Amino acid sequence: METRTVTQAQLIDGKALGQAVRDSIAKRVAEAARPVRLDAVLVGSDRSAELYARNQESTCADVGIKYVLHRIPDGAGYDEIAGRVLLLNTDEDVTGLMLHLPLPDGVDTERIQSLIAPEKDIEGVNPANIGNVVYGRRSLVPCTALAAVELIESTGIQLKGARCVVIGASNIVGKPVAVLLMRAESTVVSTNKFTPDLAAATREADVIVSAAGVPGLVTPAMVKPGAVVVDVGINRIVGDDGKRRTVGDVDFDGVREVAGWLTPVPGGVGPMTVAMLLRNAVDAALA
Ligand code: NAD
Repeated sequence: METRTVTQAQLIDGKALGQAVRDSIAKRVAEAARPVRLDAVLVGSDRSAELYARNQESTCADVGIKYVLHRIPDGAGYDEIAGRVLLLNTDEDVTGLMLHLPLPDGVDTERIQSLIAPEKDIEGVNPANIGNVVYGRRSLVPCTALAAVELIESTGIQLKGARCVVIGASNIVGKPVAVLLMRAESTVVSTNKFTPDLAAATREADVIVSAAGVPGLVTPAMVKPGAVVVDVGINRIVGDDGKRRTVGDVDFDGVREVAGWLTPVPGGVGPMTVAMLLRNAVDAALA
C-alpha cells in the first residue's frame, strides 16, 4: 500500500480532535430524551484515583453528563464492592458505570470488573464486551483502543488492506486495538515483549500503534517512511536536564523525520481517550 513521503510527520492533534468529539457529545446530551449519567465507584483514598475522579467530574459537567461518585471506605472486601456494583447495575437511573483502580489488596479486580453490566460498562472491561468486539456486535469498546483507532482514521488512511503492527497486547489496549484493526480489514501483527525482531515487522507497517510502556522503544529505523505512528505509551522519565517529564514509547524527534503522521505525548491519545469515555457514556445511555 502507498504511504505519503514527507520530510516531517504531520502531528495528529488529539487535543483538537478530542474537543471536536466532546462538542458533538454535548449536543447529543442536550438533545437526549433521558438524562445521561456516569456513576463511578472509588474504593479507599488513592491519590491518583481521587485526582482522576475529580477531573472526570468536571469533564462530565462540561458536556452535561451527571457524574455520581460512590465512595467505599478503605479496607472494603470483595463482597462489599461486588454488592455495590450489583446494586448500581439494577438502578435504572444509572446509565454508565465504572470502577476506579486500584482496588484494595486481595480483591480480584477482573472478577469485580466482570460483574459490571455489559450495557453500562463504559470502560469496556467486562469480558463480554471484548467478545462482542471480536464478533463485530454492538459493544462498549475500551476507550484507549477506540482513541487509537479514531486517531488513525483521522489521517484519512484506508485501513482496508493496510499493514498494521500493534506493539503490546494487554487486554485493555493492545488486544482491542488489534481486533478493531482486524475488523477494519487490515492485516494485523500483534507483538509483545517476546516478539523476535520487532523492527522487521514494524518496517513493513503502514500503521504502528505502540502500547508497551517502554520509552524510546520505537526508533526511526523501525518506521517505514510515511507511516502512521500512534503512541499510546505514557512513561514518566527524568530527562537529560534532570527534570521529570512524560514521554511515550516513540522516539518523537527521530520518528518525526520519517513517519507521515505521528501522535505527540502528551496531547495525542490521552485527550482522545477522555473523549471516548464520554462517548461510551452517551452511547450506553442512549442505546
Ligand atoms: P501492560 O503493561 O499491561 O502491557 C504492555 C504490553 O507491552 C505487554 O503485552 C508486553 O508484552 C508489551 N511489551 C513490553 N515491552 C515490550 C517490548 N520491548 N517490545 C514489544 N512489546 C513489549 O500495559 P498497558 O496497560 O497496555 O499500557 C501500555 C502503555 O500505554 C503504558 O505506558 C500505559 O501507561 C499506556 N496507557 C495509555 C493510555 C492513554 O490513555 N494514553 C491508557 C492506557 C494505557
